[in-house]
Amino acid sequence: MYDILIKNGTVVTHEASFDWDVAIRDGKTAAVGVRGSLEGGSGGSCGGAAKEVVDASGKLVMPGLIDPHVHIHHPFKDGFSADDFYSATVAAACGGDTTVLDFAIQWDQSFDLSATAQNRNSQFEGDAVIDYSFHACPTVSSMETVEQVPRLIEAGIPSFKLYMTYSRQGRMCDDGVLYEVLKQTAQRGAVVGVHAENDAMCMFNSDQFVKKGWDVPRYFPLCKGNLVEAEAVNRVIYMNREAGGSLYLFHLTARQSLALVKEAKGRGENVTAETCTHYLLLNSDRYDREDGVNFICSPPLRSEEDREALWKGIREGFISVVSSDHCGFTAEMKRRGGGRFPATPNGLPGVELRLPAVYTEGVKKGRISINKLVEILSVNPAKVFGMYPQKGAIACGSDADITIVDPAKKKVVSAAGLHSPADWSPYDGMELCGFADTVISKGKFVVREGSFCGCRGAGRFVKRMCSER
Ligand SMILES: [Zn+2]
Repeated sequence: MYDILIKNGTVVTHEASFDWDVAIRDGKTAAVGVRGSLEGGSGGSCGGAAKEVVDASGKLVMPGLIDPHVHIHHPFKDGFSADDFYSATVAAACGGDTTVLDFAIQWDQSFDLSATAQNRNSQFEGDAVIDYSFHACPTVSSMETVEQVPRLIEAGIPSFKLYMTYSRQGRMCDDGVLYEVLKQTAQRGAVVGVHAENDAMCMFNSDQFVKKGWDVPRYFPLCKGNLVEAEAVNRVIYMNREAGGSLYLFHLTARQSLALVKEAKGRGENVTAETCTHYLLLNSDRYDREDGVNFICSPPLRSEEDREALWKGIREGFISVVSSDHCGFTAEMKRRGGGRFPATPNGLPGVELRLPAVYTEGVKKGRISINKLVEILSVNPAKVFGMYPQKGAIACGSDADITIVDPAKKKVVSAAGLHSPADWSPYDGMELCGFADTVISKGKFVVREGSFCGCRGAGRFVKRMCSER
């Protein structure tokens, strides 16, 4: 007997869509078969084959979505962003996610990278409602950082993130250590992610802009122009080529950076590009609005030309992942810098709306197929970060992480209807469709009919492996 039978839905994979039913037992996907084939027995609506039947008529049944780039309880100035580990994972679950990847950032440099990761794990433990892991994020440019790499990989954290900027906030690793980490991970099949912006240009421009009094939001995208990103992308792609490593570019935004990724992929190099929901839906006009300060994030929102180039990059397979880069500051926190961008915390809330945003603007508007949506929101994050096919697949033996999407369900976005304590949304007032209706995490319901029904602490650390090269 199965625990759950999902019937009458359309199963969507990255390759095709099928009229399949899905059966779940003991937290795993136990069987997948053509519609009606798993009911067994005789008579009754489910023939006694399952304890519970989900009728997914008219709905899309996807592998549970994975957001590989969220920031929870993120420090700024004298406090933290608005989310805690419970509220952020509830918001993620309601957005169709069954796994999130956050960051173990070495804020306190007296702790080494392993200890930093253990501390991060203990913050999630007991509060997360869905599975989680994090990227190891060193902030010390030393040999010790390089030497820690194998230990992290052994502990099931085969992905790293290095900031190429933020030297003044003590978060940057210099190019010396970046190249060494690329070499270390290359030998072992782990992946190195970067926040690619040219640090010297960021600082120089920011200082000049402040001197001229150009510190209001409308100058922000000029201060961190496309070149600031593309130069760093160019440099790290070159280092990765020499190291023979596997490079992941977090939040790619500039069309010039995309051109560099295309060239690298054309040469057969292992480079994966990610962009985020807000770069696909919004442009830099937001900085001209009265609430422009809310939209301060790095890299900045770009032009329409960049926005369409990113969609094209997804369609053509040069951008492989769309994350939310969720960082939930309230409007009050955003205003604490007095409306000046150099003093404003960077980041936008968005973990709950990644799916409907990409569905509405991508699938509904004909920019991408539904299969591409599954590829960029679930399959590729699982593959790149060493979780496939435990996650990111509807297949026998995979974790029963399943997101059932109602393509017809429409809503006008209002922060009041969302679960992050951030009291505003970058998508406020937009009509979106394709919301998660039912979310199942390892065989347990976490969302039913759009409402959260999961348990605090049910989420577990996902021990990841090095992905195949
Ligand atoms: Zn981020």
